[in-house]
Parts: sequence; C-alpha cells; structure tokens
Amino acid sequence: MGKFYLTTAIDYVNAPPHLGHAYEKVCADVINRYQKMKGNDTFFCTGVDEHSLNVYRQAKAKNISPKQYCDGMVPAFKQAWESLNIKYDRFIRTTDNDHILSVKKLLQKIYDSGDIYKDKYQGWYCVSCEAYLQESDLVEGKCPVHNRKAEWLEEDNYFFRLSRYSEKILEHINEHADFVTPEIRKNEIVNIIKSGLQDISISRASEGWGIELPFDPGQTIYVWIDALTNYISAAGFSADDLKFGKLWPADLHIIGKDITRFHCIIWPAMLLSAGIKLPLRVYAHGFMTLEGKKMSKTDNNFVDPKNIVETAGSDAARYFIIREMPYADDMDFTWDRFWLRYNTHLANDLGNLSSRILSMAEKYCKNLIPAFGKEQDKDNGFQKTAFERTDNYQRLMDDCQLSSALASAWELVTFANKYIEVNQPWKLYKTGQQEKLDSVLRNLLEGLKVISVLLYPFIPVASEKILRSIGVEKDMEAGSFPETKIWGSLPEGSKIHKSGILFPRKEKD
Ligand SMILES: [Zn+2]
Repeated sequence: MGKFYLTTAIDYVNAPPHLGHAYEKVCADVINRYQKMKGNDTFFCTGVDEHSLNVYRQAKAKNISPKQYCDGMVPAFKQAWESLNIKYDRFIRTTDNDHILSVKKLLQKIYDSGDIYKDKYQGWYCVSCEAYLQESDLVEGKCPVHNRKAEWLEEDNYFFRLSRYSEKILEHINEHADFVTPEIRKNEIVNIIKSGLQDISISRASEGWGIELPFDPGQTIYVWIDALTNYISAAGFSADDLKFGKLWPADLHIIGKDITRFHCIIWPAMLLSAGIKLPLRVYAHGFMTLEGKKMSKTDNNFVDPKNIVETAGSDAARYFIIREMPYADDMDFTWDRFWLRYNTHLANDLGNLSSRILSMAEKYCKNLIPAFGKEQDKDNGFQKTAFERTDNYQRLMDDCQLSSALASAWELVTFANKYIEVNQPWKLYKTGQQEKLDSVLRNLLEGLKVISVLLYPFIPVASEKILRSIGVEKDMEAGSFPETKIWGSLPEGSKIHKSGILFPRKEKD
C-alpha cells in the first residue's frame, strides 16, 4: 500500500480555536482514518502559526516574550483537538527549530535560483489578514474581512518573482484536474492568474519576531511565506531527507476557501522555484457561519467545540459538522439543527437500529451470531445494496466529498431499518420459521458491520462499540476497509455483547 500525507492549515495562535477551525481538523482526521482503513501509511500534520504581528503586539501588551505568549496559547488547541478525538502525527509550531531551518533552506534555494530581489514596498496592510491589500479592496479605509483600519507601510523589502510562474502554474492546473478543488475555487484561481500575477514582498524590516532571511538577517520573512513552508518542514525537509523523500509531495492540503491564493498560486510558485514537487491536491472548504455571519472570536460570534463535546460527545460533534458542511459551500450552525440531527440520525436511525438488531439476536438467536440458513436467503438485495453504497461512499471519500459519503452510508442505515419492517423478525419467531429468522438476522448483523466500518472515520467511538459487540476485533485503522466487501465474515456462533445506548435521546436545552 502507499503513503498518504495530509495537512490542515495552521491556525493563528492568538485566539483559541472555535468550531470553524474544528471543522477543518475533523475533516482531516476523517480522511486520515479512512486512508488508514484503506491500508495506507498516513502522516497527518496540523499546528499553529506563531510569527504574526498580532502575536508580537499582544505579547508586548502583556509584557511577556512572544514565545511565552505562544506557549500559553498552544494547549488550548491541543486540548480542543484531543476532545474531538483528532489524532495527528505532528503538531507543528512555526517556532519549532526544524521549521525555522526548513524556511531558511527553502528561501536560500529560491534566492539561489534568482527569484528574489530587493525593492521598495509601500501599501495598505491589514494586521489581521497579515497581508497587503489593494486600495480597491478597502472599504472606508478598512479591511472588509476584519473591519479593521488598514495601515500604510513603506519599507525596503525583498520580493519574490511570482510573475515568472503564471504560465507554469496554469499549465499545472490544466494538467492536474484535482490540484485545486472544488471546481468553483479552481475557476477563481485560474481567473486570478489570467488577470496577471505581480511579484510579492516576502520580507519585513525586522521587528524582532519572525524568521530571519538567510541572506539578510536584518529582515524577517513574511509570515505567510513562513507559514506555507510548514508543510515541507513537517515532512522532514530540513531534518530528515529519508522521511522527506518518502512523504513529499503532500497528497492533500485541506484549507479554507479564503486562503486559496496562498496555497494554489504562491506556494506552488515557491516550490517550482526551489525545484520541489508540487502537492497533489488542495481542497478548499467553505466557512462555518453562526447566525449567517462568519465565526470569529474577535467579533464574539462563535461556537466553542467544547460546548458540543461536553453535551453530546465527540462523535456527535464530528458527525454534525461533517454532515452539515457541503463540499463546495458554507454551513450555518444552529443548536436547533444540531439537536434535530442528533435525535433523528444518531439516536433514532443508528442508535435504535443497532440496539434493535442486538436485542433481536439475543432473543431469537440465543444471543449468538446465527448462520445464514438456506443459501438462497443470502441474496435478498441487502448485500447488493450494501456493496453499492460502499462503492459510492468510496468514490466520494476519495474525492473529499465527506458529507455526501456520510449520506451514502446513511442510506444503508435507512435500508436496514426498512429491512426489519419488511421482514418482521418477530412474526417469523412467532410462527416458528427459525431458519428464515436466522437468515434475516444474519443479514442484519452483516449490514450493521458494513455500516459501522463505513462510519468509523466519522464516529469512531460508536462504530468501534458496535463492531466489538458483534465480534469484530480487528484494528479498524489497519487496512480494515475490504471488510465492507465481505458479506458473511462475522464469527458464526460467537456470542453477542450488547453495547448499551450509543446516543441517548436528548431534549435540547
Ligand atoms: Zn483583514
């Protein structure tokens, strides 16, 4: 099997994460678990972006060093991801030593290739964006995203010859259909490139917080150039050639739709200049809004992931945000919708299905996994439906269409519930049709297995409980996916262990 290296964007460290940040990390965790199930050797990197002017100013205001300030903020991120059952391999901080070496190494390569020159820069700068803005972008002198007054900066900077790479990047996008996804984001990027790329400033006269340019220590590297480089740092660019050779290029960068210019234009141009392979795919997801407005700590308009996990558990939080976020669009969070999904999907559809099947097996089959009975009972459409839904799920998962993949698995949940109503096992029991009854329950148990495997990347806790209760002891993350295509693998005659209520119904509070 192959390798799969995936990354999330690294978050600004100056405010604890909200549910919008959590979406991206859950998304990555789901894909990471799925890739492991497919037998791939994965590496999942997330982290924080520390070298910002905001950090520098906030630390100064608190009279501590910027590094101390960051040290104080990092635990909030790690705790949030842990509470959501997110299992990464590397949590990178842009103050990590291997990253600093990696940024310097990359910048030196770009410099050596003749793509960096010194010039005067002046322009409007938004401290929250950490980016220069065009005069035409400003609304009454303010950044339209942050509603914050832009600052006029003027200084000697080093520039990167981004303009040199327009054709090459366009060519790459044309030849690699998946390089920028979804399609709508690709079109935006193509239009930006076609309208002409300008060289960009990549350094600032030093304010004492940031990575020094290797060829001019008097200047610090622009925070975005620094941040983007984390993807190769984590893969071992400066510290471990063997690892880098194995992991790079990244298979997937998961980012928000507002930072595609950095990831689909500037980043590939930097890599091209340094002679490093380009990542295979960028998936730019939509935003999570609250009451129709973008979630933001500064505007006090956000949901804390902790609140969801504490009231409903990590599975429910993961399920909801993945199910509700469309592939190419935004989602609006409401607690009403959360509880509706929780009660109808998790408590009713899945929770009841599982407990009904296990209770019937207990009552009608001596609490053992029954045999299929007559051979012809094996093929009743259930297996066919399960395999079809699995194929569909796999196609969607491979394309990062997580919400649709989840919906596809859910069709099987719905099918299984209907299968119970149609076959009425309680009637078969009353009329003494034991062989038929065994077949029906065996099909249900096999179906429940397939469902649980498909749902594992999304709701690992509940899925594992169900699987253990029906005798599946396999490590789900060790190439378990082929299990979805075997109808009849459950250990016949072995005891069933009921798993208790997976998702207790809740009244919203
Ligand atoms: Zn801004």
